[in-house]
Amino acid sequence: MAEIEREAMEYDVVIVGAGPAGLSAAIRLKQLDADLNVVVLEKGSEVGAHILSGAVLDPCGLDALIPDWKEKGAPLNVPVHEDNFYMLGEAGKIRIPNFPMPPLMNNHGNYIVSMGNVCRWMAEQAEELGVEIFPGMACSELVYGENGEVKGVVAGVFGLEPDGSYGPGTEPGMELHGKYVFLSEGVRGSLSKEVIAKYDLSAGKEPQKYGVGMKEIWEIDPAKHKEGSVTHTMGWPLGSNAGGGSFIYHLENNQVYVGFVVHLNYKNPHLYPYMEFQRFKHHPMVAELLKGGKRVAYGARAITEGGYQSMPKLVAPGVALLGCSAGMVNVPRIKGNHNAMLSGKAAAEAAYDAIKADRSGDELTAYEVDVREGPIGADLKKVRNVKPIWSKWGLTASLMLGGLDMWTNTLGFSLFGTVGHGKNDAQSTEEASKHKPIDYPKPDGTLSFDRLTNVSFAMTNHEESQPCHLKLTDPDIPVKVNLPKFDEPAQRYCPAGVYEMVEDEEGPRFVINFQNCVHCKTCDIKDPSQNITWTTPQGGDGPNYPNM
Ligand SMILES: Cc1cc2nc3c(=O)[nH]c(=O)nc-3n(C[C@H](O)[C@H](O)[C@H](O)COP(=O)(O)OP(=O)(O)OC[C@H]3O[C@@H](n4cnc5c(N)ncnc54)[C@H](O)[C@@H]3O)c2cc1C
Repeated sequence: MAEIEREAMEYDVVIVGAGPAGLSAAIRLKQLDADLNVVVLEKGSEVGAHILSGAVLDPCGLDALIPDWKEKGAPLNVPVHEDNFYMLGEAGKIRIPNFPMPPLMNNHGNYIVSMGNVCRWMAEQAEELGVEIFPGMACSELVYGENGEVKGVVAGVFGLEPDGSYGPGTEPGMELHGKYVFLSEGVRGSLSKEVIAKYDLSAGKEPQKYGVGMKEIWEIDPAKHKEGSVTHTMGWPLGSNAGGGSFIYHLENNQVYVGFVVHLNYKNPHLYPYMEFQRFKHHPMVAELLKGGKRVAYGARAITEGGYQSMPKLVAPGVALLGCSAGMVNVPRIKGNHNAMLSGKAAAEAAYDAIKADRSGDELTAYEVDVREGPIGADLKKVRNVKPIWSKWGLTASLMLGGLDMWTNTLGFSLFGTVGHGKNDAQSTEEASKHKPIDYPKPDGTLSFDRLTNVSFAMTNHEESQPCHLKLTDPDIPVKVNLPKFDEPAQRYCPAGVYEMVEDEEGPRFVINFQNCVHCKTCDIKDPSQNITWTTPQGGDGPNYPNM
């Protein structure tokens, strides 16, 4: 193939992804020096279109970045004033009191927010400072310099032929070069994955761990709405089949976020995370709340769960991993947005110092030190054992021993040292023959919905003529390996119904309905053969979340 010719634009810092991490970095760079040239590229059709969190926001990141965010009208309108935690059985519940929980679990001072709206507001702040933000621009390739450093990205390739080649209608995109490139793609970023592999950034670290989070927005009966109320549950319906739990957050306008997270290290390939979520809504406590209401939006996204011991090295020549590109979620708090913001700020400060010293294309070591030894490290270190204890010894042990460990860590020590995760989530999947299929009740169309109907509430869209962005390394594996061994779990773990096994006259056939993809990245993580690679489709495609 002939060399593709592209225009190149030069910047001081190129930022991939307009989530809380990328936007914080952009804002901080311009606060430090208004003359720096900073660009943010976002694959969503607009900033916020691909943002999905719970979300209860710990404002410490925003406090550090924009101390007068209240005066500037940040959409943090609903302070948390009630915090409930329940252990569910099929028909009942036990309230776990708040007092034995370590202080870090307290939601007092936090806000129930739409992170999509927070990001839209942050983008306005960034643009006022002079940051260039280009939504609808997917970064599909990294550009390397002569010395092997990351020099930039390719963004804005549109209209590829269905086989992936360049045709007469293809726009080749452009190269955006920077003295430094920040990857703030969120969980399992496709360029971040390449950088982690190329520079072996995970060497000596524990494997990254993940969950899949699904979320609906409901408008409920005003008489049942309690603005500022936060509820978390564990137990039913997952029981011992998988780790995970739910969240129910009452925001403004009689809306409620109802969400469910399933840890992706589950063993039974028959498990169907989406149906676990649907079943959960039939618990009497939840059904009572939602009855008479309506679901107005649906979405899904993976969440990083490996924590402190799984964070890769954060820098390589010319490039830094920010926020959940490196996995900065505090798992027991189910919070990562504050660390994403703090990491953006820290990376910006390191790049500013480097650029002032006439450096470029090298490792921003100061950023790595700041993350590990500063507030992010302090936040993640205290809770580092909760997830591995849960995975090894189950939910009850995690509540008792994990709780004890968080307490002792708050006092400065741990009885466990640092517990490892061992396997990655793909390796945790066991053969289907070792497990019983799970019989899920059919959705009733009122409280629970079939997957494809719900996906239409993610308003996802992909130009059909483009190549499938979900790449199989070996196209035979789904039918020849995954089906006989694992009952091809892609049919179930994908929360958007992208993958189907269809029975033809010649036998089973694996179908990828890539148009349904909501960019959650679960397939890239959980495929037991590690045969699926999520690549970025053309810009503007994907979900169009309202106020997720
Ligand atoms: C179900 C669920 C509930 C959660 N609840 C909470 C909560 O209550 N509180 C909390 O603090 N945290 C919560 N989190 C975690 C939180 O969402 C993450 O920690 C946070 O989103 C990380 O921010 P980020 O900026 O690193 O990435 P993201 O927020 O994921 O943003 C990344 C952005 O980069 C864009 N992008 C990615 N790749 C490319 C590319 N190649 N080219 C161009 N653009 C690209 C994406 O479209 C996206 O807009 C939750 C997560 C989930 C999944």
